[in-house]
Amino acid sequence: EKLCQALPKLELHAHLNGSLSMDTLKKLYKMQNPNSKSSEDTLMSIKNFSSLDECFKVFNIAHSLTTTPEAVFHSTYDTIKEFKEDNVIYLELRSTPRAIEGKMTKQEYVEAIIKAFEICKTDFPNILLKLLISINRKQGYKAAQDNIELAINFFKKYPQYIVGLDLSGDPMTGSTFLELLRKARLAGLKIAAHCAEVPNETETIDILKFKPDRLGHCTCIHPTLQGSSKLFNLLLDSKIPVELCLTSNIQCKTVSTYESHQFKYLYEVGHPICLGTDDKGVFHTSLSHEYKIASSTFGLKQEQLLKLCLSSIEYTFATLEEKQALLYEIEKFAKECN
Ligand code: 5GP
Repeated sequence: EKLCQALPKLELHAHLNGSLSMDTLKKLYKMQNPNSKSSEDTLMSIKNFSSLDECFKVFNIAHSLTTTPEAVFHSTYDTIKEFKEDNVIYLELRSTPRAIEGKMTKQEYVEAIIKAFEICKTDFPNILLKLLISINRKQGYKAAQDNIELAINFFKKYPQYIVGLDLSGDPMTGSTFLELLRKARLAGLKIAAHCAEVPNETETIDILKFKPDRLGHCTCIHPTLQGSSKLFNLLLDSKIPVELCLTSNIQCKTVSTYESHQFKYLYEVGHPICLGTDDKGVFHTSLSHEYKIASSTFGLKQEQLLKLCLSSIEYTFATLEEKQALLYEIEKFAKECN
């Protein structure tokens, strides 16, 4: 437990609005409702969900509290601080730009995040920050196009922060917009795509063929699922790193037990993987906790946990120099351990 907390970790799969802690949500609630005393009841419903579908409804609560640039700024700042306190040395946040009539444009939404990044750079110099602009598959083609355009423009201005796109949102609906993602890739953006969260062979094959830089979850690409060994082999052949979020999958019931999580199969064959929290606020987890679960469930010892951190460096969307600095940090820690 102590080791997992002390490890210098890399977080590559964290959605901003799902990462908000109860403390942050309460703070935002007070900002929005300065005269109300009862934030608890409204916010408690966040804990009560038991499926992927219900999990998506929980995001509405966080979204209802992040409707101004100020709230987005505080959300980002607090989230970074919490990851830093968990000894995360590299954080790739992802978020879907939202426009709120009369209050905030998508442009201002992203600017608020960048502003928090800039201030955190001074306040917390030991955590390197990057942002992926998310596309919510449910919101349709026009929104996807807008977000990509926004990402390309911000990438030109802030290449040190904006590094890529994330395809997420309710996997039961919408489309993958692969043609649009192809355009974004040509502009230099990296692509992280949620993949196979629900069974959908055709879509999974399309995504694998597209070859995103990283894949999220891949829950339904599982060698023991009927008819899935073909997909499993395609995934292995692709060598695309997979971001795995243990607690998230268990709490959304897309995986039944930690022991049967796809981590086991991908780890055993040496496929590139990294651990992430997904939505640390919604699932009440931390990256240390995810490492601890991996360690206790799959018997990973200190050396293997360190290796998991080290190998994650390669899958980041950081520059070569930044990767070298991260490598130095972890190796320094490893030496101190021995
Ligand atoms: P935001 O993008 O608003 O900062 O973070 C919340 C959003 O992230 C959700 O509305 C959803 O689109 C996306 N998200 C969070 N967790 C998951 C997940 O487990 N799967 C998918 N597909 N999308 C998610």
